[in-house]
Amino acid sequence: MGVCPSAIMSLLRDNFTGVLHPWARPEVLTCTSWGAPIIWDGTFNPDIAQQVAGQQNLTIGLTVFAVGRYLEKYLARFLESAEQHFMVGQHVVYYVFTERPAAVPQVALGRGRRLRVERVVQERRWQDVSMARMRTLHAALGGRLGREAHFVFCMDVDQHFSNAFGPETLADSVAQLHAWHYRWPRWFLPYERDVRSAAALSRSEGDFYYHAAVFGGSVAALRRLTAHCTRGLQRDRALGLEARWHDESHLNKFFWLHKPAKVLSPEFCWSPEIGWRPEVHRPRLLWAPKEYALVRD
Ligand code: UDP
Ligand code: MN
Repeated sequence: MGVCPSAIMSLLRDNFTGVLHPWARPEVLTCTSWGAPIIWDGTFNPDIAQQVAGQQNLTIGLTVFAVGRYLEKYLARFLESAEQHFMVGQHVVYYVFTERPAAVPQVALGRGRRLRVERVVQERRWQDVSMARMRTLHAALGGRLGREAHFVFCMDVDQHFSNAFGPETLADSVAQLHAWHYRWPRWFLPYERDVRSAAALSRSEGDFYYHAAVFGGSVAALRRLTAHCTRGLQRDRALGLEARWHDESHLNKFFWLHKPAKVLSPEFCWSPEIGWRPEVHRPRLLWAPKEYALVRD
């Protein structure tokens, strides 16, 4: 499939010259139609990416919500594995959002890495906890998080890192290909289809189906993303609507309207339940099994 010269252009824009080798994976799509790189294992040089990021003295934020039973079940492993694999060698600030700050596990942090805990109110329904993240993130990005981080990743807690997730993933806006949906034609993707919803996409719209468990970018870009999604969620609620996949539906609408500058292959957030796939070389994040009976009411 595709190697495209504009991948090189976006590379230059990113200030990451020499990081990408899109031709290294001829069997997968390594560039979008709008010229953004889709990064697969082998298409980037992690050492150069780390060097370039180091020279820029970046601070990278990682936000995660752990509300209700998700805290005990997932947070420790998420953070401990992030210490092993997330942006090692860079300055990192974790932001944990929870209704019970005192219950956040003590995790030994490496040099240049900090953890901040922010209190949120616990919404009653799990769908509301998930959707409320957009509004909370928007506020945090406008506050201390936005002042201390250059780039931020926003992630689900029900997963853990299994391999290096480094600065090769950074760009102005970053979207994650959904592991279950990257092979489907777009008319088949689970976008919101109700035209009354702010998240609606028609059968002829949509580039990829993106996973809300991982998105990132610069503070300014994420302010725009979270503002857009918060507005859409509020508008839908006022009409008595709830998009099919909640905040993820609105995120997909946003990335249809405002194309991501970089796309992460499903290797970056993989579901082991899918089984073996030849194109998935080295998963970076692995989903936890969906034990909804244990964590949801
Ligand atoms: N979440 C939480 N408590 C809840 C529901 C959700 O902390 O009661 C957070 C948590 O970070 C979780 C994310 O919201 O990973 C999204 O929810 P979930 O992972 O259950 O959604 P799914 O991945 O199944 O779509
Ligand atoms: Mn999840």
